[in-house]
Amino acid sequence: MARRRGAGAAAMIADLLLTDASILTMAPAGSGVDPRAVVVAILGDRIVHVGADDAGLTARRTVSLAGRCVVPGFHDAHQHMAWFGASLDEIDLSTPPMRNLDDVATAIAAAAASTPADGWIVGNGYDENKIGGHPDRDLMERVAPGRRVLLTHTSGHMSVVSSAVLAELGLADRGRDVPGGTVVVDGAGRPTGLLQEQAQNLLSPLRRPLPVDDIAHAVGRASDVYVRQGITSVVEAGVGGGWIGRSPVEVLAYQRARDAGRLAVRVELMVASDVLHTLGGSGVDDLGNGIDLGLRTGFGDDWLRLGPVKVFSDGSLIGHTAAMCSDFSDSPGVRGYLQDDAEALADTIVAAHRSGWRVATHAIGDAAIDLVLDAYERCVRDHPRTGWGGRVGNMAPRHRIEHFGVARPDQVERAAQLGVVPVPQGRFIGEIGDGMRRALGSQRADWAYRFASLLTAGIVVPGSSDRPVVDGRPMLGIHDLVNRRTASGEVLGAGEVVTPHEALRAYTYGSAYASYQEDRKGWIGPGTLADLAVLSDDPTAVDPVALADIEVQATVVAGQVVWDAGIGVRHD
Ligand SMILES: [Zn+2]
Repeated sequence: MARRRGAGAAAMIADLLLTDASILTMAPAGSGVDPRAVVVAILGDRIVHVGADDAGLTARRTVSLAGRCVVPGFHDAHQHMAWFGASLDEIDLSTPPMRNLDDVATAIAAAAASTPADGWIVGNGYDENKIGGHPDRDLMERVAPGRRVLLTHTSGHMSVVSSAVLAELGLADRGRDVPGGTVVVDGAGRPTGLLQEQAQNLLSPLRRPLPVDDIAHAVGRASDVYVRQGITSVVEAGVGGGWIGRSPVEVLAYQRARDAGRLAVRVELMVASDVLHTLGGSGVDDLGNGIDLGLRTGFGDDWLRLGPVKVFSDGSLIGHTAAMCSDFSDSPGVRGYLQDDAEALADTIVAAHRSGWRVATHAIGDAAIDLVLDAYERCVRDHPRTGWGGRVGNMAPRHRIEHFGVARPDQVERAAQLGVVPVPQGRFIGEIGDGMRRALGSQRADWAYRFASLLTAGIVVPGSSDRPVVDGRPMLGIHDLVNRRTASGEVLGAGEVVTPHEALRAYTYGSAYASYQEDRKGWIGPGTLADLAVLSDDPTAVDPVALADIEVQATVVAGQVVWDAGIGVRHD
């Protein structure tokens, strides 16, 4: 547990004392720390004091914040750092700026002109609901004849490729069956260029593995953006394998970025389930599947550590590949699909659990959520976990369900009973909420990306973005959790609205809890890691519609000021 300030604290000289601040500590009940404070002191990488005054402490530097708000650094519990960093160098196909397929064609033509003839023209972030359909091979051929083009959907769950790429894959004239995915064909059986879900793996021999230094560069670019947005911790939702991974040696890229001083935020890495295999320990160990050397969740340190295993059970809601119990409202006869045989998926989850991993399973449709809850129940019933993470006794492994996109009321209750942590994304409502409502119809729309009902059920919910699927700024995510307005201005799930304080707690304490690290971060108290964000305004005191306008003016990670918008926290 966090260390309490002892009797000798007054004699201590802190490194940095921030005074005249409006501090929201987010401290949990029972911590002995008040919800609000005025002064916070940092020594090394830790908070050593927070309170209404300085308690007699002296410091090497004292900075008055002139009433600015201080919160624990934001912690994005599900995002894709290398994917986002790389996307900064690709064509931005999101809307805006793209209004229609003509805009996409123009952007491809412009990129083709500046890309070597044998190079890839790569774009990301398109949403067919907003631009009038998926781009197809014929559109690409018209503006970039003979070129290799790859455009990835905003969800990451599908991509379209050009005729040249289809030819390299042997898909120029006809499709093929891919388990857990689809090579989409037209009425004549000719591939359109659209590759859904696991069919994207066909591209791997052409596109993967990426060089480690390229991945490290992307991680560094993402880190630069994150610290400006008050982010101090992130969970990377899938490395090492599958269509989400970029290299089998991807962890090395994060280590290199850290060694080079390019990693300013703390990272927990989820490991793609594809890379797990039998471990070969002694029979008495009774292990399931894992990675070489028996490394598992928790290995590493406060900067870089292994998180859960990432399992994909289904696909995308707006892309209609999420596995539903009944048809999508706007697509009769379509109810999505699982990414593997149901029993094989459950076995993957249980095998990882047995080896000591926490498991984070992507499940968006209610049919997928049923399957994952069943598997998690098997885990705790057949292989109870004891004495984990420094705690003793029988304990919930806090297995996660990523997205928890369409959850019936009984599924919310069951997740709470099993100690499962759902990981929904608030910003999805603002950017793709209208597409969700069309796909789900009016009744099921109330089950989409729930939040308030999870809190009511007693669940500690993290805050996350799934960046680059949507804009990942934490204040924007908090805004959307509170307002729940879609792009067209309608409220999606009025019963799921939360308060600014609840949304802020999700992005701080909730995410720390989801990483089993609430003993050391996610709140401001003596002994916690000195990770802070300084905001222009108090999120609990502004008009909720103005939450996204709050500026991050400084960011502190491990006691170091990694971002300062000119308010004088950094000592230059
Ligand atoms: Zn994701």
